[in-house]
Amino acid sequence: MINDLMQRLGVSSQQYQGGDYAVTSPTDGSELGRVAFESADVTQGRIDRAQRAFEAWRQVPAPRRGELVRLFADQLRRHKDDLGRLVTLECGKIYQEGLGEVQEMIDICDLAVGQSRQLFGLTIASERPGHHMRESWHPLGPIGLITAFNFPVAPWAWNAALALVCGNSLIWKPSEKTPLCALACQALLDAAVKEFGDDAPADLSQVVIGGRESGEVLTDDRRIPLISATGSTRMGREIAPRVASRFGRSILELGGNNAMILAPSADLDMAVRAILFSAVGTAGQRCTTLRRLIVHESIRDDVLARVKKAYANVTIGDPMDGSLVGPLIDGQSFDQMQSALGKAREQGATVTGGERLLEDQYPEGFYVRPAIVEMQEQTDLVRSETFAPILYVMSYSEFDEALAMNNDVPQGLSSCVFTTDVREAETFVSALGSDCGIANVNIGPSGAEIGGAFGGEKETGGGRESGSDIWKSYMRRQTNTVNYSRELPLAQGIRFD
Ligand code: NAD
Repeated sequence: MINDLMQRLGVSSQQYQGGDYAVTSPTDGSELGRVAFESADVTQGRIDRAQRAFEAWRQVPAPRRGELVRLFADQLRRHKDDLGRLVTLECGKIYQEGLGEVQEMIDICDLAVGQSRQLFGLTIASERPGHHMRESWHPLGPIGLITAFNFPVAPWAWNAALALVCGNSLIWKPSEKTPLCALACQALLDAAVKEFGDDAPADLSQVVIGGRESGEVLTDDRRIPLISATGSTRMGREIAPRVASRFGRSILELGGNNAMILAPSADLDMAVRAILFSAVGTAGQRCTTLRRLIVHESIRDDVLARVKKAYANVTIGDPMDGSLVGPLIDGQSFDQMQSALGKAREQGATVTGGERLLEDQYPEGFYVRPAIVEMQEQTDLVRSETFAPILYVMSYSEFDEALAMNNDVPQGLSSCVFTTDVREAETFVSALGSDCGIANVNIGPSGAEIGGAFGGEKETGGGRESGSDIWKSYMRRQTNTVNYSRELPLAQGIRFD
């Protein structure tokens, strides 16, 4: 199956077979391929070529660059099923979500094509006669991308589509757990480049196969003016100072610890559906997964009963076969989940679920029943992100107390409130409300659309990707003052003669 899939996606067998690093499927532990990690020297050579590609690509008019992204979106439309299937095979998310990830890639390409005709700068009134000022946006350089296993294709595309229309070349270090998805994306982009014609330079986009050492090569290279990195807060903490020490820019998309405040006036049917999707979807392995439910004490028992009933009906199993929850990425992830549940029990919590399932059928696949953990209070355990389906449930009596709990974690990615009280809803999204990059009302914390800027505050890293005005992050801003008079007046009326 994998060979047919890779062939249809345009990846040659040498690229994913014949190396010595085994790529396995979390669904059953079967081997999907063997890739070779490249040396630092090879990566340095790629950076040279990315620099040359940039020097040519920046000369191509932006709307024409948009045409390449349009062709790439066509490739994605044509290969949506296959790429979605590969996402499922390699990272274990259910097929519907694999397709959703590819759709997100198509959506950002559409946005980027439109953006390619709108790389607008301001004109500015000069204080000097016979002068005008304006702001110009210029291509930045080769963009270094580092991505996580749980979204193996979409975050790359959020960056890539916009960075390409902005006139940059790309160099991508995907997660070592999902290199095949990256090779497939690269092959589809290569096909679009071929269709596009000669004004797309060679090596406009490249993939670096390797572990964190390869990421470090990109991080440390001053020829790469921007590193956009998605992954754990640990990773962000390591790379941020390295990029900053060479005065590079970074976009950091790191861990989340997302809450829902569930108020007494909420529509509970809607809220329970939102809890289910956002807490157990992708087996709790989304950066925006719902990890903390802060529920009003008056409805706590009712809500818990409903949520437990909904959890009991969730189908867990092969992500390709219509289940709602697939496996965890690996055994290490399972161990981390069990360790967190053990600590919760020590802290007096009541734990429902969390056990391993289907072990006989899949000895190398780590399927779990999503866990509901009833806590007395928000402890440091709750404040840390465990990348697994654990929903901590805590109660509150006053709305201000719930808001304080929402904000009292080191991460600041996503958050939501379910309420029909307009004061609570508006407070939540006001300056006094949620401190997260994403704050929603009556929808869960996960499942963002590409139109809005995506990212979060505090230990989530402060970066933003995707829609809104994020294209500016992939360009350098230049302020121009042009004197079309025959005088040379100085600003602020200074006389220097
Ligand atoms: P990870 O941090 O282990 O790895 C992410 C990527 O960083 C990989 O490609 C890895 O090789 C690379 N890397 C790791 N250390 C590095 C270093 N020192 N220098 C350079 N590169 C390095 O993360 P993961 O387990 O793949 O993904 C899960 C984490 O990612 C979770 O914390 C999740 O919340 C987060 N995440 C965040 C977002 C977001 O948009 N905020 C999206 C997806 C995942």
